[in-house]
Amino acid sequence: MVKICGIGAGYVGGPTMAVIALKCPSIEVAVVDISESRISAWNSKKLPFYEPGLEEVVNQCRGKNLLFSSDVEKHVYEADIIFVSVNTPTKIKGIGAGKAADLTYWESAARMIADVSNSDKIVVEKSTVPVRTAEAIGKILSENSKSKGIKYQILSNPEFLSEGTAIQDLLNPDRVLIGGNQDPQGLDAIQKLKDIYAYWVPQDRIITTNLWSAELSKLADNAFLAQRISSINAMSALCEATGAEVSQVSLALGKNTKIGPKFLNASVGFGGSCFQKDIMNLVYICESNGLTQVGNYWKEVIKVNEYQKSRFVHRVVTSMFNTVSGKKIGILGFAFKKDTSDTRKSPAIDVCKGLLGDNACLSIYDPRVTEHQIEKELCMDGVECVNVVGDAYEATRDAHGLCILTEWDEFKTIDYQRVYQNMEKPAFVFDGRNILDVHKLREIGFIVYSIGNPLDQ
Ligand code: NAD
Repeated sequence: MVKICGIGAGYVGGPTMAVIALKCPSIEVAVVDISESRISAWNSKKLPFYEPGLEEVVNQCRGKNLLFSSDVEKHVYEADIIFVSVNTPTKIKGIGAGKAADLTYWESAARMIADVSNSDKIVVEKSTVPVRTAEAIGKILSENSKSKGIKYQILSNPEFLSEGTAIQDLLNPDRVLIGGNQDPQGLDAIQKLKDIYAYWVPQDRIITTNLWSAELSKLADNAFLAQRISSINAMSALCEATGAEVSQVSLALGKNTKIGPKFLNASVGFGGSCFQKDIMNLVYICESNGLTQVGNYWKEVIKVNEYQKSRFVHRVVTSMFNTVSGKKIGILGFAFKKDTSDTRKSPAIDVCKGLLGDNACLSIYDPRVTEHQIEKELCMDGVECVNVVGDAYEATRDAHGLCILTEWDEFKTIDYQRVYQNMEKPAFVFDGRNILDVHKLREIGFIVYSIGNPLDQ
């Protein structure tokens, strides 16, 4: 029986390993993490984060061929194939601070693998890493287990799941990318990984490349997606200035088959733990290779995103007679996107901080994010003007304004007539996700701002 160990039980490691266990009943999958609290959450009824369909998959496999453990070394020792899904955040200090990937966690995982292994292993990069990381990892592994005569094959198998649709993305991926050495041992390792995916992924969706192409493709993938969001958001600013409507521009663009309709929704900006970090990593790699001009191109994607968030805050404050001081503003949504409880780099953080900076009082509701998460993200020590509440109506009671910051489906169907009655007048709505029917809201009496649309129509 093939044994797999997944190092890192986070948003990537947990769901990817659970789906492998589901689809490959003859493979034993152990997911390990240095965080005891994360592992005990995976072993409890309340998983460490919300992801649609995840609980069902975990419940089907846990206790059969899927286990979660903090005994990292034992399961690494026993495994034939090790998937490494540890975090690769942006360096906060030293050379490359603010741009380069911090590979501390990866390096310590590699050293631990070398220390405990006693047999040949395939080590799979699932984390997003800088191009040529496999070279460094290879050195760490082989130099640290020289005396044991162990051989490692390193593969790059970047993960393309999106939070909120992770299980669907894993069950039905549009592609699986496997990069490896092109010598006989490398090709053999690639084949072994292909054999696992072949349990449920059609052959024509499994792409194999060299290591560096696979590593770089993941960074390129996130950069292209984020660039598309910044492109439509840049257009949204121009729409507001000219009287064009961004939804109409998106529709027209999306019908061009060379462009396509996806990722063309204007919004308050992108968030999540990956886009910014991976683009800054790309910028750093460009600069390290003397390609400053190319790095500058990608940097603009981040700058437009920052601009979009600050433009939103500016619009809220200026619309409300240039001051929100002491005014209550209801915030609907704090997660970085719908169907996840993840708040990492959520645009809601910057918007809330911007409004608090102007002395607003916030009443925040998100269906999946906890009060503790919000307090942590807003560094709320000493901030008194924030209340985290249990439903949308409570968030809007006596509020002067309402901001939609996450596109949760439930925000489309709440009773806005009731919300209007709840609120101070004039009642403002700022739709940062363009999910509401502006005309209906205006009929009710709201003053409405939605991204990329003229203010008054
Ligand atoms: P995460 O922070 O949720 O999970 C990482 C886990 O690794 C943590 O639980 C941490 O305790 C554990 N860990 C760190 N060092 C360890 C070690 N030495 N041994 C055992 N466990 C260790 O991160 P994530 O969101 O799952 O992302 C992981 C990687 O996948 C990152 O490189 C990220 O860029 C990439 N990625 C993320 C997404 C996403 O949507 N979150 C999608 C694709 C790729």
